[in-house]
Amino acid sequence: MAFTCIASFVRRNDLIKLLNQNVKQIKASSSVGNLAKVNNVQYSTHVQKSLIKQLRAVSAQTRFYSVKAAQDVDAEYCSEHNITIIGDDVPGPFKDLETSKFPDYIKNFLKEEGFVKPTVIQSQGWPVALSGKNFVGIAQTGTGKTLAYLLPAVVHLKENKGKRGRGPRVVVLAPTRELARQIEEVAKNFEKSMNIRCVCIYGGVSRARQADELQRGVDILIATPGRLNDFINSKVTTLSRCTYVVLDEADRMLDMGFEPQIRDALEEVPLERQILMFSATWPKEVKHLAKDYLGEFVQVNVGSTELSANHNIEQHVHICDQEEKMDKFKAIMHDICGQGIGKVLVFTNTKRFVDSLTMILRRNGWPAVGIHGDKTQLQRDTIINKFKSGKTNILVATDVAARGLDVEGVTHVINYDFPNTSEDYIHRIGRTGRQENKGESHTILTNDDARQAKSLMAVLKEANQEIPEDLQLMAQNYDSTKEKKQTQKFKPRKFGWKPRPNYSSRKWGDKFGSYNERYY
Ligand code: AMP
Repeated sequence: MAFTCIASFVRRNDLIKLLNQNVKQIKASSSVGNLAKVNNVQYSTHVQKSLIKQLRAVSAQTRFYSVKAAQDVDAEYCSEHNITIIGDDVPGPFKDLETSKFPDYIKNFLKEEGFVKPTVIQSQGWPVALSGKNFVGIAQTGTGKTLAYLLPAVVHLKENKGKRGRGPRVVVLAPTRELARQIEEVAKNFEKSMNIRCVCIYGGVSRARQADELQRGVDILIATPGRLNDFINSKVTTLSRCTYVVLDEADRMLDMGFEPQIRDALEEVPLERQILMFSATWPKEVKHLAKDYLGEFVQVNVGSTELSANHNIEQHVHICDQEEKMDKFKAIMHDICGQGIGKVLVFTNTKRFVDSLTMILRRNGWPAVGIHGDKTQLQRDTIINKFKSGKTNILVATDVAARGLDVEGVTHVINYDFPNTSEDYIHRIGRTGRQENKGESHTILTNDDARQAKSLMAVLKEANQEIPEDLQLMAQNYDSTKEKKQTQKFKPRKFGWKPRPNYSSRKWGDKFGSYNERYY
C-alpha cells in the first residue's frame, strides 16, 4: 500500500515537472517539445489525469503547421452547408483549394486528381486537422472523408520529424477489410509522389506477408482493429512512435464489437498525439470513446447527427406476398434494364441466398456476381474489382457491401430482402447517388417485415419521398396487432380483475403473496 502511494506520488511529481518544463519550452520556442517521455506515465489518480489533460492542451498548441487557429467560425458558410461546429478556437474553412493553407505539394496532388474544390467535410476538417487539434467529424460515407484525414496525415509526416524506430507514425483504423483496402487505394495514389510508405493489414488472410511488409518499414498503417492488436501483441509492430490516429467509421467499429481492440490500440499510442474520429452517427458509445481518448476536440457535424438517407436517391418501396417476391424482383430488373442501367447492387440477407439469386439472375440472362463473408479474400477482391471495372454490372451481396463501399456508377440498389434495421437500409441504398449523382433504390417488403414499416416511413418522410399507401397500411396493421397482443397478454385470466396489492404496505416475507394473489 505504502509502496503504491510512493509510486503514484513520484509519478505525479514527474508529471508536474514535465508540465513545467514544457510550458517553459513552449514559451522559449514554438517547436514541438519532447513530450513523448510522458508515454510511460500511468493513469492512476484523478490529479494525474487532470495534469495529463493540461499537458495535452499545452502540447496541442505546439502542433500546428501552416495554419493559425483561433479564427472565428464562418457562420454564413456553416449555415449554407448545414454544418454545426462545437469547440474552441476553430480555424475558418478552406473554401477553395487555391487559397487553402496546404503546402504546394498537396495542392498539386489535388489538381492532378482533378479535384477543383473541397467537399464540405474537407473544407472544415482540413484546417482543424492541420491546426493539430483532435477532431470528430460526423458525416456520411461518400462525403470525401478519406482525403479529409489522409492529406493532413501527409503534412503531419512531412513537416514533423518523427521518433526514430519501428512502427507507423500514422494509423488509420477501419471496421472492415473492404474499407481498409479502399483507404489503401486512395493512399497509394500519393505514396510514390510523396515518398510515403503505406501498408494495409486486415484479418482473413495470411499474417506472414503483412508482417513482412510491416518489417520493411511503414509510415501510414491502415488496419482493421483485430489484426492490428494481433500484430501489436506478437510484437510484429508497435505504435510507440505513432502521433496521428484516425478512427474511420467509429460507430460501425463499435457496433461490430471492436471497442476493446480499439481501446487496447489507443493505450499503445504516445500521449502526445492527434486523434481524428469519423462517424456517420453520434451515439453514446462513440461519445464515450471520444471523451476517454480525445479529451478536448473540435466536432464538425455535416448535416444531422442522426442517420438519414441521401436525398439524391429516389426511393421506391414494393409490397407483396412472400411467394410473389421473386416475380416482383424480376419485374423490377426488367424495368431497370429497359432504362439502360449502369451498375446494379442487389442486397439479400443470407449468404446462401446470395449464391441462389446470383444463379437465378444468370439463368435469366443477367450476368451477375455474388459476394458474402464466406468467400475468401481473394474471391472478394476479384469480385469487387470486376464490379468496379464494369466487367460485370450486377453484384448480389449481403451486408458486407453495405457500408463504405465506393463504386462509381452504381445507379440502382435493390433490396430483395429488407435489412435488420432502417440504419442498414440507409447504408445499403447509400451505395448509389454518391458524389452528387442521382440514384434509385427499390425495396421489396412482405408482411414478415411489418415491424420495420414505421421506421422505413420515417426515413422516406425525412428524404421527402412518397410514402406508398400499402406501407402506411402495413405499419397501421402492425401497430394494431401489437396493441391487441399486449392487451391480451395483460388480460386478467383465471381469477378476474382485482386491484393491485400495495407492496409497500406489506411485510417483506409475503412480498410475492400467495398463488391466489397473483393475477397474471
Ligand atoms: P470517401 O467519402 O472518402 O469514400 O470519398 C467518396 C468519393 O469522393 C471518392 O470517390 C473520392 O475520390 C471523391 N472525392 C474526394 N474528395 C473530393 C473532392 N474534393 N472533390 C470531388 N470528389 C472528391
